[in-house]
Amino acid sequence: MAHQIPTDGTLLPLMEEFYTIQGEGYNTGKAAYFIRLGGCDVGCHWCDVKESWDAESHPLTHADEIVAKADTYPGRAVVITGGEPLIYNMDYLTAKLQEKKILTFIETSGAYPLSGSWDWICLSPKKFKAPRPDITPLANELKVIVFNKSDFMWAEKYAESVSPTCKLYLQPEWSKRNEVTPLIIDYVMANPKWEISLQTHKFLNIP
Ligand code: SF4
Repeated sequence: MAHQIPTDGTLLPLMEEFYTIQGEGYNTGKAAYFIRLGGCDVGCHWCDVKESWDAESHPLTHADEIVAKADTYPGRAVVITGGEPLIYNMDYLTAKLQEKKILTFIETSGAYPLSGSWDWICLSPKKFKAPRPDITPLANELKVIVFNKSDFMWAEKYAESVSPTCKLYLQPEWSKRNEVTPLIIDYVMANPKWEISLQTHKFLNIP
């Protein structure tokens, strides 16, 4: 039976939650509680969490329950990811986390309207479903996944629409890392406004 997901954001399809180290982007190396929500229709062919796509296969969980678990860990930051978390209303969950003095970080493709109160917005635009133009200026971090050479030009297009303080990252797509990492190294040396982001959690063998 289809999930009846209330629009107030109190119930969310939770795929998994775990305490770990943020492996990529600006917050690399920081302890954080990951909240992975099910549901995504962006359709990246190289997606490494395809199990997240079907929201129906993940149990609807009360946001209070998620916050209570996040609150048991010494690391005072959560990374809300997916799937595409902005399919859902994030206002309730993020307000409750911030009440507990837990920092709220999001990883989003930007394909859905922004909701929630965020301490850090990582925008990772995807070719398969473009980010909304109203979300790009709000990003604290632009993280472009590089799958092939043409992605550099595509990345530059988004670098023009983010704020001047937005951090810019190029990250090799994992299955292509041997091929594209040397290209990213050369690109960043020639264009130092960009930095490299690596999926260090995969090298460390942690979730
Ligand atoms: Fe996978 Fe993220 Fe792309 Fe959705 S946006 S298909 S979860 S990589």
